[in-house]
Amino acid sequence: MRAETMLSEVRAHHFIDGQFRPGQGERTPVINPATGETISAIAQALPMEIDQAVAAARRAFRPWARTLPKQRAQALHKLGDLIAQDAEAMARIMTMEQGKPVNEARGEILKLAEACHFYAEEAVRVHGEIVPNDQPGFQSLVVREPIGVVGAITPWNYPAELVGWKLCASLASGCTIIIKPADITPFTALAIAAKVQEAGIPSGVVNVLTGRGSVVGQALVEHPDVDKIAFTGSSAVGLQIQRSCPRIKRLSLELGGNCPLIVAASADLSAAVAGATRRSFRNMGQICIAINRIYVARPLYEPFLEAFGKAAEALTVANGLDNPGADCGAMASADALEKTKAHLEDGRARGARLIAGGAAPIGPAFARGLFFRPTVLADCTPEMLVMSEETFGPLVGISVFDELDEAILRANDTPYGLAAYAFARDLSEVHRLSEELDYGNVAVNNVDAGIMNAPYGGRKQSGVGCEHGREGLLEYFNFKHIRLKYGP
Ligand code: NAP
Ligand code: MG
Repeated sequence: MRAETMLSEVRAHHFIDGQFRPGQGERTPVINPATGETISAIAQALPMEIDQAVAAARRAFRPWARTLPKQRAQALHKLGDLIAQDAEAMARIMTMEQGKPVNEARGEILKLAEACHFYAEEAVRVHGEIVPNDQPGFQSLVVREPIGVVGAITPWNYPAELVGWKLCASLASGCTIIIKPADITPFTALAIAAKVQEAGIPSGVVNVLTGRGSVVGQALVEHPDVDKIAFTGSSAVGLQIQRSCPRIKRLSLELGGNCPLIVAASADLSAAVAGATRRSFRNMGQICIAINRIYVARPLYEPFLEAFGKAAEALTVANGLDNPGADCGAMASADALEKTKAHLEDGRARGARLIAGGAAPIGPAFARGLFFRPTVLADCTPEMLVMSEETFGPLVGISVFDELDEAILRANDTPYGLAAYAFARDLSEVHRLSEELDYGNVAVNNVDAGIMNAPYGGRKQSGVGCEHGREGLLEYFNFKHIRLKYGP
């Protein structure tokens, strides 16, 4: 299907109980950040519509939970195939609302398809245990049962994957789900719902409601019939959710980061530069696990700055719809662009040295969009915002160190604990970095901290719980202990 057709069919609709229904609430435009043009509109979900979606998910829960894991796995495989078949149109929708280049968006859609197949395979491997008892004639079974109705609340930076991990885990476990995507990237989620419908997944198992987080998201948090909230977003909203939840419910919170890269004295310089370039600027730096700040050992400092500055300048910035292969597209939101500029100004005012970027690209193609060039600041100090807060934009700060101890101390000196990166070849440096970096994900000599079959999650203010891997799926289950007396 064409992206434009798909967009017009779901305009101002929610997906409730297996049907796309025209929303009754106020309309909000959705803007293409590369052009400033309105691409379509969403409806703000009303309390009645939220109740309908939750009720549909509740009705669907027991039958879906009782469906054989093998059948749920088949549904997931089918969903993955359908998504992959329509990857091009879905990618274009994502680019229109989010700004990332089409090739990158297509890659994300295909990762979502892969997640469907991964969770399908896991669905049939959820085992229990038999536990020894303290008396003869007893047997204890520990089994896993799906939690129930999940409210999923997701951000705008990875509009397909961050919906997908929650959706796939729900489908695999036997939970049902109501998805509230980010206000500025709702159509990728609605396009996924269209595939859910096409895959013949039973009505009510998956629902999508659009609207403001503070209203629709908050309503799911407070709803007495939602059993679990799976949230990805900022630490501030994560804390608000934890504080405002009026009853006991399961929470998984995947929150912000402020991720360091340490380039140790033994590092392979060109590998470190390539890694820093990829992980600082991919998706315009709008990644929770983007490199925010870099600590480089003194002997490598100036050569690193020179090579990294060149690599950053060489990245192409373009409208991602016209130039599918561009390195960087538009930023997704004006707020994110403003924060990037504010962190840059703060760094420069405090004496940082500009190595690359520092301004928006010039030309008619950029005039109305949210563009900014990949920007590198050197000689940064710890109090600069670029070093102490998550920028969530195409800006990275660098500082020099003499002893590895000092670099590790500074890397860990943050309330966040999502991901950290290091380049080193000396075995003892590699070992120390792996062990002492206080993060949920540590990537050494590479910058891809997440893979599908390992748990992905943060610690400290970066959240609780995880996604991906067996561990991510188990977040959707309750334990049940069944103690049986079978002897005399
Ligand atoms: P955000 O402002 O926290 O929003 C995330 C989601 O929460 C959106 O759907 C938002 O809806 C909704 N929301 C807002 N207020 C709410 C409330 N009171 N109750 C319930 N839901 C509410 O985050 P963002 O700006 O979209 O995304 C950027 C942040 O996400 C960064 O901090 C980034 O590090 C983090 N992130 C973390 C991970 C991870 O895996 N740890 C992955 C990606 C991103 P609206 O859009 O309608 O406001
Ligand atoms: Mg927001």
